Amino acid sequence: MLTLNGKADLLSMNIPELEEFLITLGEPKYRAKQIFAWMHRGVGIDGMTDISKKLREKLHETAVVDLPTIEEKLVSKLDGTVKYLFGLHDGNVIESVFMRYKHGNTICISSEVGCPMGCKFCASTIGGLVRKLRPAELLGQVIAAEHDIGERISNIVMMGIGEPLDNYDNTLKFLSLVGDPAGLNIGSRHISLSTCGLVDKIDELAKCDLQITLSISLHAADDETRSSIMPINNKWKISELLDACRRYFAVTGRRISFEYTLIAGKNDSPEYARRLAHTLKQGLYRGSKPFPIHVNLIPVNEVEESGFSRSSNDAVKRFSDTLNSLGVNATVRRKLGGDINASCGQLRRAKLKAAQEKIAEN
Ligand code: SAH
Repeated sequence: MLTLNGKADLLSMNIPELEEFLITLGEPKYRAKQIFAWMHRGVGIDGMTDISKKLREKLHETAVVDLPTIEEKLVSKLDGTVKYLFGLHDGNVIESVFMRYKHGNTICISSEVGCPMGCKFCASTIGGLVRKLRPAELLGQVIAAEHDIGERISNIVMMGIGEPLDNYDNTLKFLSLVGDPAGLNIGSRHISLSTCGLVDKIDELAKCDLQITLSISLHAADDETRSSIMPINNKWKISELLDACRRYFAVTGRRISFEYTLIAGKNDSPEYARRLAHTLKQGLYRGSKPFPIHVNLIPVNEVEESGFSRSSNDAVKRFSDTLNSLGVNATVRRKLGGDINASCGQLRRAKLKAAQEKIAEN
């Protein structure tokens, strides 16, 4: 059984697992669906009004509904983007960002506390990995934000703190929980997963044929540059990563997104754009029929520790125009929540010290 501090971790459970747990309490199976529906609407044990007081007491003794607490909430005056700093049961904090797009409300969630991947431009990885998030903690971010905002969230991007494919089993469990029609009912077609490129896990994910949009954090067009900013490239070269992308498309038929962070003077010249177009075409298509891809250009968010600076607007436009002129579909990511530091990892960094003191006290 899934547990948290010796109690049943109800929010990490699917309906069959909840049924099994309820049987151990001598309760009928049908209660599982009721409890599942309540939890996924952000309601804890006390609010489950259609189950008896006696059962609620029993649940308090034996189980937890592990929803995060809102430690801090910043609302953008520019576009209504909401950034949450969520508190976890052990005093750790993670970030999630709620965004309003024309195609629906979207939440960007974290997958780990910290990150082990070591990308040089990224704030989330500076202190390394603290721990992976459990299914309840992945799901809890969506539930808590939806409950707080009072509007349905229809899309999820796993682009917050951490590497979702480094937390593979819990991520897969989360995907099945969040897609359950008895709960939030957000299907794979409405979920994007961003990865720095764990090739073995991309292949495993492809086998699940889930219709998730895969976003690859590429950030460079050649191995030397990529290895200098992303340590994962020492394990799998760009060609191996693009091979895995081709296999993912072959199984799922889903367009693949590539994220490319523009760093002034490092990877943002038109020459680099030409190199990127060449690398993508060579690596992905290998002379066979092209399939749809998209490049997201992100001017780097400056992180004090990295020393990298943002490309000029001119350089960004030139880069984007060059890619498009070479037949590579590229857009510059619209920056939401510019006034609330909405890029992930930065608020947590600022709060980390306080949170660590809290953990030390406990
Ligand atoms: N670990 C996953 C998801 C988390 S990061 C991944 O690597 O994809 C989400 C995206 O933000 C990634 O493309 C990441 O490379 C990018 N990113 C991280 N720090 C950034 C920064 N300072 N400026 C711009 N993009 C950044």
